[in-house]
Amino acid sequence: MTIQQFTFNFFAENTYVVSDDETKEALIFDSGMMNEKENRQLSDYLTQNGLKPVAAINTHLHVDHILGVPYVHETYGFAPRAHVADIPLYQRAAQQATMFGMEFKEELPALAAPLTDADVVTCGHLTFHIYHVPGHSPGSLCFHEKNEKVILVGDVLFNGSVGRSDLPGGDHDQLIRGIKEKLLILPDETLVYSGHGPATTIGNEKRSNPFLQ
Ligand SMILES: [Zn+2]
Ligand SMILES: [Zn+2]
Repeated sequence: MTIQQFTFNFFAENTYVVSDDETKEALIFDSGMMNEKENRQLSDYLTQNGLKPVAAINTHLHVDHILGVPYVHETYGFAPRAHVADIPLYQRAAQQATMFGMEFKEELPALAAPLTDADVVTCGHLTFHIYHVPGHSPGSLCFHEKNEKVILVGDVLFNGSVGRSDLPGGDHDQLIRGIKEKLLILPDETLVYSGHGPATTIGNEKRSNPFLQ
């Protein structure tokens, strides 16, 4: 498995391309590209590595994670899959953007088949199990590849921090409970890829994340 991390837009949001080295199939997580240059960065990476995107996945639907959705839809033909509880955020993308002092006028495609924690997402030989961890947003999902010992957590958990819970639908206690019950039980060496900032491990966060002690 190869994970390519891009950091896009005003919010330094991490977009990930996760690919199976053998089949070259790829998933695009959280398309955050905000302009031509960032669109090209994503597309060049896919082309240069001979990757075939098979789906777009969203950990959640905050505006910084969906700015590149129209481009991915136009270019590769798929809209993102996400949890239904975040649909109201998606419908209010333009308002979300205004709230953060930016403009987002593009039309978003209808979401593809929704995801719940009963689903798995596959890509070549990779299988991602899904954990629903609300509290940062109502529909926040984490995607765990058990064999590779990797989890993509969106804005649920960060290196040394946790997601903010002061946005609509946020709930700090629910977030902390979810992290402890669903993420901190994973093997310590599990690599954690977050929606912002550098990667970490479950063990690191268990030991030193001030919000989780
Ligand atoms: Zn977020
Ligand atoms: Zn974010």
